[in-house]
Amino acid sequence: MDYKLKDNKNIDDFVQRLSQALQIKTISYENMDMVDKSEFLKFHTFIEKSFPNVHRVLVKETINDFGILFKWEGTETNQDSILLMAHMDVVPVEKETENEWCFEPFSGNISDGYVWGRGALDMKSQLMGILEAVEGLIINGFKPRKTIYLAFGHDEEVGGYLGNAQMASYLQSKGIKLSMVLDEGGFIIKNAIAGMSCLAALIGIAEKGMTTLELFAESNGGHSSMPPNSTAIGRLAKSIYILEKKQFKANINSILKEFFKAIAPKMPLLKRIIFSNIWLFKPLIIRIFTKLPKTNALVRTTTAFTMIEGGFKMNVLPQQAKAVANFRVMPGETIEDVKKRVEKVIKKLDITVKVNDVSFNPSKISHIASNEYKVMCKTIVSVFPESVAAPYLTVGSTDSRYYQKIANQIFRFCPIEIESEDLERVHGVNERISIEGYKKMIEFFYLLIESL
Ligand SMILES: [Zn+2]
Repeated sequence: MDYKLKDNKNIDDFVQRLSQALQIKTISYENMDMVDKSEFLKFHTFIEKSFPNVHRVLVKETINDFGILFKWEGTETNQDSILLMAHMDVVPVEKETENEWCFEPFSGNISDGYVWGRGALDMKSQLMGILEAVEGLIINGFKPRKTIYLAFGHDEEVGGYLGNAQMASYLQSKGIKLSMVLDEGGFIIKNAIAGMSCLAALIGIAEKGMTTLELFAESNGGHSSMPPNSTAIGRLAKSIYILEKKQFKANINSILKEFFKAIAPKMPLLKRIIFSNIWLFKPLIIRIFTKLPKTNALVRTTTAFTMIEGGFKMNVLPQQAKAVANFRVMPGETIEDVKKRVEKVIKKLDITVKVNDVSFNPSKISHIASNEYKVMCKTIVSVFPESVAAPYLTVGSTDSRYYQKIANQIFRFCPIEIESEDLERVHGVNERISIEGYKKMIEFFYLLIESL
């Protein structure tokens, strides 16, 4: 078989295989008992059948039954290795939204130039795209210079504790060092920020940390006919009000500065002047960025109250009220900083603040001067000549965080051109990928692996 990607010879096969991958219900749940393990095993068998050369040449290891780690030995074994990541699990489809889907969510329907289904963007396309590229490279006789690992987790959507967390410890225990990790992250998108009409390829060079704080207000309780002026619920409500009003300080950090530098040449004149003179326009930029949630998240540690409880009877004073707030922490700040600031802001209200177990600090920032970043940009420009590659801050969290101890550069990037409205399809309804976009994604991985 000829894998030359420039013509359309193999695209039908690629698309058919992606469609089949989307038909397998590899849904992850926090409660492992709810997971249909047979679907994950079906997925393993499916990729084994679909990529015979990958399975012949690469060494495959299974981690915790369902996670897959491939090793493709390079010709220069003294070099640090490369790790390409994707996850095979998807989020469930909410019952209430099922009838909003144009096609059954696990049908892998191919129509109107798209492949439709849960996982089309997040992120079986990337997993399949990497495998198509490796299969093609092997067929064309390519041998990688550096050893390449492929890590396909099975529980990314529920924290990655059984998949990538274990794979990272396993590689660390074997003394493996990685010069580059590539995981999911920014797409190639128009309107990345207001007024930007060209396509921006957003390469996540860092990701925010996360902490969840539990706020407790206690009081004596008693009958509600003789209440104090403020109950536990009242004090808790005040603390929520204050914390929402006094948001964390907004700032333009080094990542955003580099982002502006990368995109400025492609901006209309006025914005080009603004983004090229941050020292002068910083207050204006911050004012614009803090107006919209998607850009606000790039300039500050965000505060989101997500759960609340307290009281059990209408005429009984509650002895305790509890609120839960989720914070996404900017690089340069820590979980401890967040807790300290929260305690300081609500100090007069007698609230106890506890850090929840699922908390992690922001990642390190990868270097845009590194050779690996340059290779990423060069590959992007070759495959997506209309776009400008720009460093970015990933505001969500990815499994790549588990590899920080053994990796030099970590990038978070999905090589797919999408419309901004497609972002809502991720974890939403009518998730889909364009056939043209999928083809370019495979080309991207093919070229990237060749260039590394
Ligand atoms: Zn994902």
